[in-house]
Amino acid sequence: MKISETDTYLFCSKCLDETLHHVRYLNGKINKIQCENCKRTNEMNMDFKRELYKEVYKRITSKPFRLTEELKKDPNKLAEDLPKRVLSKPYRLMKYLNETKESYKKIKGE
Ligand SMILES: [Zn+2]
Repeated sequence: MKISETDTYLFCSKCLDETLHHVRYLNGKINKIQCENCKRTNEMNMDFKRELYKEVYKRITSKPFRLTEELKKDPNKLAEDLPKRVLSKPYRLMKYLNETKESYKKIKGE
């Protein structure tokens, strides 16, 4: 789960003009748009848990496929790589979980 933010000029229906908007993305999808001029906010109806579930599901299901593909290409290389991957996994998983926790806090904290 990743949050990214950007400022861009969009048409505001309250200001009736192109104004600077603050746009927040969650996992590449627009989550919130705020007009910097009048502070009018548009929040997208996004189910955080559903997004999280979809992401985790995608991660789990894409893994065996990737491994199988790599195995077909170069079985020896994979055998060499595998211990390294297994070792790096808890770190990556922790990083992912922390990232997700931060995103969740940010969204719920408003
Ligand atoms: Zn506005």
